Amino acid sequence: MTKKILITNDDGINAPGIKALVEGLKGLGDLTVVAPDREQSASGHSLTLQRPLRISKRAAGWYVVDGTPTDCVFIGVNHLLRQEKPDLVISGINRGGNLGDDITYSGTVAAAFEATLLGIPAIAVSLEYKRDFHFATAARVVREVAVKVLDRGMPADTLLNVNVPDLSWDELAGFRVTRQGKRSYSDVVCENRDPRGRRYYWIGGEVLPGDYLAGTDAADVHAGFVSITPIHLDLTNYKALEPLQQWEWSI
Ligand code: MN
Repeated sequence: MTKKILITNDDGINAPGIKALVEGLKGLGDLTVVAPDREQSASGHSLTLQRPLRISKRAAGWYVVDGTPTDCVFIGVNHLLRQEKPDLVISGINRGGNLGDDITYSGTVAAAFEATLLGIPAIAVSLEYKRDFHFATAARVVREVAVKVLDRGMPADTLLNVNVPDLSWDELAGFRVTRQGKRSYSDVVCENRDPRGRRYYWIGGEVLPGDYLAGTDAADVHAGFVSITPIHLDLTNYKALEPLQQWEWSI
């Protein structure tokens, strides 16, 4: 039976990454795009509850929502594709990596989280932030990952966070299954004045070159490998359970 694939992103429906993703997945199944009408990067796992949402049909199989990536998956699965739920949700191709701690801010990864909550296998795919943006490489990578997931399924409550180096296909060092790493940023708040003389603030911060921990997403992407990190939603720190249970609780 033809597989149904729901596609979304956080860079917005007009971003080059989502076009490359659709191109790369052609022939793999019925593709439905449900994407935000504008850039929603760093929107995290935000769900719009305080105002109505509008859906407009852009073309056959292409829908735009004036909300977040999480809204798009929620509406895609529970409304637009409610008769036949998707077999797979793919979010991306994000313009810039989602490595280490970044994934907690990422709208791209959050869309995949939402699919996982709805019981649908999901892949988030991001392309390292450099100059060239080899979206075609990332599209070919995600096709390969998608074929495997459709064929083998995924462990429960798990999504795949895929990060692709900004290289041509032939330059890739290979594929690595990795763990979530750490990234450090210079924490910058830029202060300036608007044309009316009022102060405004802009959150910035560059990625600091650091020592990458071996076996992590950031280290392997830096070394030219495609990084595939299995992620789940259980945020419990199991190592902290016992020490906290030892505290003297009153009752
Ligand atoms: Mn983005």
